[in-house]
Amino acid sequence: MRSSGELRYLFLDLNAYFASVEQQENPRLRGRPVAVVPMADTDTTCAIAASYEAKAFGVKTGTRIWEARRLCPDLVLVPARHDLYVDYHHRIMAEVENHLPIHKVMSIDEAACRLIGDEREPERARTLGRAIKAGIRAKVGDALRCSVGIAPSVLTAKIAADLEKPDGLVLLEAKDLPGRILGLQLTDLPGIGENMAAHLVHAGVTDVAALWALAPKQMRAIWNSVVGERFCYALHGFELPELATSRRSIGHSRVLAPARRAPARARLVARALLLKAAVRLRRYGYAAGGLGLSARPLELARFAQETRFPPTQDSFVLLAELERLWRRFLAERGARAPLIKTSIWLFRLVPIEARVADFFVARRADGLTRGEALWTALDRLGARYGRGAVALASQRDLALQYLGAKIAFTRVPDPIEFDE
Ligand SMILES: [Mg+2]
Repeated sequence: MRSSGELRYLFLDLNAYFASVEQQENPRLRGRPVAVVPMADTDTTCAIAASYEAKAFGVKTGTRIWEARRLCPDLVLVPARHDLYVDYHHRIMAEVENHLPIHKVMSIDEAACRLIGDEREPERARTLGRAIKAGIRAKVGDALRCSVGIAPSVLTAKIAADLEKPDGLVLLEAKDLPGRILGLQLTDLPGIGENMAAHLVHAGVTDVAALWALAPKQMRAIWNSVVGERFCYALHGFELPELATSRRSIGHSRVLAPARRAPARARLVARALLLKAAVRLRRYGYAAGGLGLSARPLELARFAQETRFPPTQDSFVLLAELERLWRRFLAERGARAPLIKTSIWLFRLVPIEARVADFFVARRADGLTRGEALWTALDRLGARYGRGAVALASQRDLALQYLGAKIAFTRVPDPIEFDE
């Protein structure tokens, strides 16, 4: 099978995550071999994370503590603090979202972002990868390192991230495959454990080159499941069918910190997520004719509804649609139930030039409404002075980015100021 070379995903994997967070929190641990353990000083338990200094001695996740101590007598054992790692997770994801929307959070220290438009050009993708890495160091913590992989599928992007650790940045383009991964063991590939590797060897597939040569049907037979076929497509850089439809929507979601769980606060988060999605919508020349809102109260059933309207890229129109959905949410779930998560998504996307004329809406010569032209101008300011340079007054106290100074307009400029 030929491979599909477009760089569609950026995969981020924090290096030695728990141990790095501990080194970030406690500077005395930096540069020292550290193992994070479930409970302090229990020889029968395993390390659940090891710093790179400890890895150099052969200590890794799963190493028994008594053995880790033998390998590395100076090893510092630190009891795990999961709340702290969750807190850092949110700060890291918030920083990633300053650069790219997160397509999927894979685990506490891994996320995949989907690249669209010019983000798929290798130099642009590499620049985004560097910016995310630098942003995490500058805004979350300079003891944190991550590996970034950029490739055509989530699977290949994860493989790319695994190729260079720590602090890697690897692109896998069509020309790099399979050459760049031929040196890997079968079990180095995500999704191939010891059992599946044994299965593969039994079928005569003993290395990555032989795996690469298999057709989808053959992998399906070896896996005895459609999972094998999907793995084959993903390995060759093709998107899985259910992912291929995701380009038809632009969405953001956020797990809410305790301080943001009251509906009135969560509403501001949902508005901020929508404003971010709208920037992307305009950047790629689309108008959205649908908006979805999902809000998950801590204890009540999830609320999820959509509205449809004439396609627009005007954030004010989209915010008004969000208000309608939010009022429905409050009516159904009450104004007091704390929320754990909120998501928004824009759908029914049409290229702006393909939008059917609506004679009741005044348009300028370039086909945009005045509101759309205003937001396009604001996007340009944001691009020049940094995302967050321009913010609605109602949103300005909401630091989705957690850190970094913001210059907020205290009023929204009149559209006339941007008309020419
Ligand atoms: Mg990791």
